[in-house]
Amino acid sequence: MSSRFALMIDPAESVDDRTDFAETFTVVDPSAPALNVSELSTQRGDGIFESIGVVDGHAQETRAHLDRLAHSADLCDLPAPNTEQWRQAIALATAHTGPGEGVIKLILSRGVEHGPAPTAWVTAAQAPDNTAARTRGIRVVTLDRGYDSGAPARAPWLLLGAKTLSYAVNMAAIREAKRRGADDAIFVSSDGFVLEAPTASVILRFGDRFVTPEPAGAILHGTTQISLFDYLRASGHEVAYDEIATADLATVDAAWLVSSVRLAAPIRGIDSIELAIDAGLTASFNDYLLSPRD
Ligand code: PLP
Repeated sequence: MSSRFALMIDPAESVDDRTDFAETFTVVDPSAPALNVSELSTQRGDGIFESIGVVDGHAQETRAHLDRLAHSADLCDLPAPNTEQWRQAIALATAHTGPGEGVIKLILSRGVEHGPAPTAWVTAAQAPDNTAARTRGIRVVTLDRGYDSGAPARAPWLLLGAKTLSYAVNMAAIREAKRRGADDAIFVSSDGFVLEAPTASVILRFGDRFVTPEPAGAILHGTTQISLFDYLRASGHEVAYDEIATADLATVDAAWLVSSVRLAAPIRGIDSIELAIDAGLTASFNDYLLSPRD
């Protein structure tokens, strides 16, 4: 989906004590080249990003996305983003998403090779139509991520808990899922625990209990999952973060992949296991996720 709007942010300005950051933004033509060929984001995937859902001109869960951007920056030794500057950039971009569903991307890169400062920009685009995934559901396959559960602590430089721009592996996993006749994948650890999807969190229902893998450094803490757990808790359901063995996928009663733009996609099958879709509950999830949320 091509962007409708793009603005570059001058992150060098982010440390001063101003309250209006308009002068640190440069609106650029979203269809024209804007990056230096020596950008480390494009050369090495060295940077971080966020994708924020927009519904009828309201950017969803801005605070949670900015918190995760700051967490990723910390893990990647990037300068801490100035939250107020990014919030104002999001507000400007939101005004250009139009009615219906949109997506705003925040990108913070290491910058130009040997350059003095990071490069930062924000884009706004219309969201793709996700109706089919939300209503008919998706089939997923489990794919070994190749790391065991000890990897995040043993090798923090793998940046497993950061939302980095290095998504080539995630995209390869989705292609592999499609080659195997599925729509998407669930990564599992090499020692047999459920992790996350390449672009979404996993929520599983076992009886009356809704469970997601503990975000203990190996996976992203999904803003949509956090929000849906608030919703489920408020509706009287039990929710929990837990270690989920891959073998336990055989006993799930229902499952979803959830993320900021596709929202809640019910899972119809995991590998050779067929699952019934709870259409009513899924519709209530997506109605909630499409309502304005801060
Ligand atoms: N896990 C991964 C690897 C992701 O890329 C994403 C979203 O892009 C998520 C989980 C879900 O995060 P959120 O709900 O904040 O979109």
